[in-house]
Amino acid sequence: MVLRKVYLQNMLDKLQKFQVYLLPLICILMILSPINSLAAAGTVSSSVKLEINGQLISENEGATIIAGRSMVPLKTVTDSLGIPVLWFDSTRIIKVEDTSGPIFLKIGDSEANIDGHKVQLDVPPMLEGGQTLVPLRFIAEALRAEVEWFPEEKLIRVKRSNLNDITFESYKEQVRVIFELTDPEKYEAFRLHEPERLVIDIPDTQYNQKRKLLTVHHNLLTSIRVSQFQKEPSIVRVVLDLSGAEIDYQIHVLPLQQKLVIDLFTPGTEIEEYIAEPQPSTPAIKALQNKIIVIDPGHGGKNPGAIGITGLYESEVNYDIAQKLIKLLQAAGAYTIMTRKSDEDPGLYERAEIANENRADLFISIHADAHPKEVTHGSTVYGHYNATKDNWAFAWYVHEEIIKNTGLASKGLRAADFVVLRETKAPAILIETAYLSNREDEALLKDSEFRQKVAEGILNGVIRYYTTKDN
Ligand SMILES: [Zn+2]
Repeated sequence: MVLRKVYLQNMLDKLQKFQVYLLPLICILMILSPINSLAAAGTVSSSVKLEINGQLISENEGATIIAGRSMVPLKTVTDSLGIPVLWFDSTRIIKVEDTSGPIFLKIGDSEANIDGHKVQLDVPPMLEGGQTLVPLRFIAEALRAEVEWFPEEKLIRVKRSNLNDITFESYKEQVRVIFELTDPEKYEAFRLHEPERLVIDIPDTQYNQKRKLLTVHHNLLTSIRVSQFQKEPSIVRVVLDLSGAEIDYQIHVLPLQQKLVIDLFTPGTEIEEYIAEPQPSTPAIKALQNKIIVIDPGHGGKNPGAIGITGLYESEVNYDIAQKLIKLLQAAGAYTIMTRKSDEDPGLYERAEIANENRADLFISIHADAHPKEVTHGSTVYGHYNATKDNWAFAWYVHEEIIKNTGLASKGLRAADFVVLRETKAPAILIETAYLSNREDEALLKDSEFRQKVAEGILNGVIRYYTTKDN
C-alpha cells in the first residue's frame, strides 16, 4: 500500500532530536554557574521566581538561594508536574514516585537513590518553613526536567514534557486519537507490520497516568497501548494496534492547544476534519485557525537549485525560510505540511500531490532567483496563467507584504506554467524571494534575520489574504 505522504513537522524532527538530548545538558551547565555566582557575590538567601511548565509559582513557593545553591520546594515542583510524592515522617524519607523509577531522598542526607542508583547531591534536602527544599540540580537531573535561568528577571524556568492523557473519538470510517501533550512538536511516527501497528515515539517526555491500555471497539483500531519505552534518554511509546494494513493516517500538530491529533481512516474515504477548540486569541490567530497550509521549499537533496554569486545554495535558503515560516504559521493556528525533508528532492508532481492529498487550503512554494545579468535584483511572486482572481489576490498580498517587511525591490507579479502551480488545486504561489546572482541580494539571503523577515512578510500576506477574504 502507499502511505499518504504527510510530511507534517518532519523538518523539525531532526532539529528537535538534537534539542531534546542536548538542550537539558546545555541548560544545566549554563544555569549552575550564574546561580552560584550570585551567592559568591554575597547573597546568603534571596528569593527567585519559579515557573513550571509555563505556570508562574506564587512568590512564597518560589526558589531560594541558600549557601550558593538554588533550592526549590520539592512538592511545588512535583505537584505542578503531576508526580506523586510520599513522605515518611519517622524516617524523614521522601519517595518521589516518578514513572521512570522511584526516587528516595532523606532530609539532611546528601545521598539520594534514583531508580536504584546512589546519587550524591551537592546540598542535602532541607526543611525550611514547612517545605522540603531540594537543589535545582536535582530537579534537572533526577526528574529529567529542562531548567533555564534568567538572571535579569531572577527567574528559573522548569519544563518537563508530559503526555497527560490519550483519548479517542470514533466515526464511521475514521478513528481520531488525541494526545494531550506538553510539547506536541517532538514525536516520531512509524509503521510496524505483522501485526499492523502505528507507533508514536515521544522523546524527552513522561507519562504519569496509571492507565496503560485503552480498548477501542472500531473496525480500524483495536487498542492503544502506552509505555515508558526508554528511560535514558526518556521516550514514551504509544502503540496503535491497527486491524489491517490498508489503514491510512494523518497527523495534526497543535502546539498552542498542546495536542497531537492522529486520524486513522480507510484510504479513499471522506474524513472529518479536526476542528481545534477556539483559542482566546488575536484576530491574526483566528484568521489562520484550522487552515491547512502546504509549504514547498524548492529543490533539495542532490539538486541545489540556483547557486549564489559567492556559492550560497538556493535549496538551503528555501528550506530555512520554509522552516521559519512554518513556526510562524503554527503560532497563528494553522496546520502546516512540508513537501520535503532537508535532504530530499521530491518530484514537482509529487509536491503538488502532497497538497492535493492533504486538501491544502494554500500552497506556498519558496525559491530564490538567478539571472545571467548580475545587476538584476528584487523579489517576484508567480501565479499560474489560469489562476483564479482569488489566487492572484493571494499572490499580491504576499508579494506586497514581503516588500514591505524586507525593503527588497519589487519585480512584481508574474504568470508562468510551473508544474507546482498548475497541478495544485488550492490557491498556489511560487515566491522568488530575491536574486542569488546579485551580490546585495545574496548577502541578504545569507542572513538569518533577513530570512526571518521574508518569512514574516509571507505570514502577513497569508493573514491579509484570509482577513480580506472573510470581509
Ligand atoms: Zn528555484
